[in-house]
Amino acid sequence: MKIKAAVLPATQQPFLLTEINLDTELRADEVLVKIVATGLCHTDLSIRDEQIPFEIPAILGHEGAGIVERIGSSVTKVKEGDHVVLVPASCGKCSYCKSGHPSYCSNFFLLNLGGTRGDGSCPYHDHEGKNVAGFFFGQSSFATYSLASENNLVKVPTDVPLEILGPLGCSLQTGSGTVLNVLRPQAGEGIVVSGVGPVGLAAIMAAKAAGCTTIIAVDVHENRLTLAKELGATHTINSRNTVISDEIVNNIYPGGVHYGIDTTGRNDVINQMVGSLRYMGKAAIVAIAPTPKLEIDYAVFMTGKSLQYVLEGDSVPDIFIPQLIELYKRGLFPFDKLIKFYNLEDINQAVEDSENGTTLKAVLRMPH
Ligand SMILES: [Zn+2]
Ligand SMILES: [Zn+2]
Repeated sequence: MKIKAAVLPATQQPFLLTEINLDTELRADEVLVKIVATGLCHTDLSIRDEQIPFEIPAILGHEGAGIVERIGSSVTKVKEGDHVVLVPASCGKCSYCKSGHPSYCSNFFLLNLGGTRGDGSCPYHDHEGKNVAGFFFGQSSFATYSLASENNLVKVPTDVPLEILGPLGCSLQTGSGTVLNVLRPQAGEGIVVSGVGPVGLAAIMAAKAAGCTTIIAVDVHENRLTLAKELGATHTINSRNTVISDEIVNNIYPGGVHYGIDTTGRNDVINQMVGSLRYMGKAAIVAIAPTPKLEIDYAVFMTGKSLQYVLEGDSVPDIFIPQLIELYKRGLFPFDKLIKFYNLEDINQAVEDSENGTTLKAVLRMPH
């Protein structure tokens, strides 16, 4: 069938809206999804900028939400017409998947960054018949239709607007999952979040939902800090002119907070974030690092602190995404406040607005 897709034609280039031929002869476990809307995430741009290797030309997009159009012969999890959120692909068979940690699936790179099916076949072709890489995070959802598999779809309720739900599958579960699944704060505890883009703001909302009573947002953009306050931050720090750890340990929370999350990937910020923790405090980092080498002051660990890298919020999406939707329905996870909609054809505008910070979470509506 013919689909419309925003194709990345080459690295460092803008996206190009193109017609693509998609071979829709489904494998047994495959599902054809009519995409309604897809979030734009920083990782899409990491491919464009060659920070993560991926075959190009490619259809990117990995925060898709849509409606099941057709299912393969062995699919039982979803049926035609179901509303679904697409999540990173996982094999379901390795020890990480089996033990409830599909974000660390040992087949993650093959399934999410391989550009083809596991067997090497490619169902996406341009008008000359040349292969276009797909299956980006198991979905390549910058397109009107996506070929996914049963394993990377989460069925969602139909009484919430489907077009806002895609970002739950990556950036929003990354921030909120790191709080709720990994750090697991107790009611009454304190947390600092450095970098309050979509991932950091999701962490702020989750910390509030978990009952944290001191929630400190750190950023250099005042507009983001203002939104962080609206969404649950009790304190804000503009790190352009303040040393984060000094401000927290000396003024906001004497002795330091229990938890920290960094979404910036910056060495200086991570050092200050860890320096803001109390003895035995726990910190998580989630950014795709702009700096390849992480250097931390040895002294800050000598009080029993720990630092962990967390991928995709270490969630089991089938369990976690419905939980986030329940929180949203009750007003406890108002992530729709982050979203600005664009038409797919305006994807390059969405990229520009996201990069200059005027848009927090761009969501692309598909032309159907
Ligand atoms: Zn696995
Ligand atoms: Zn992402």
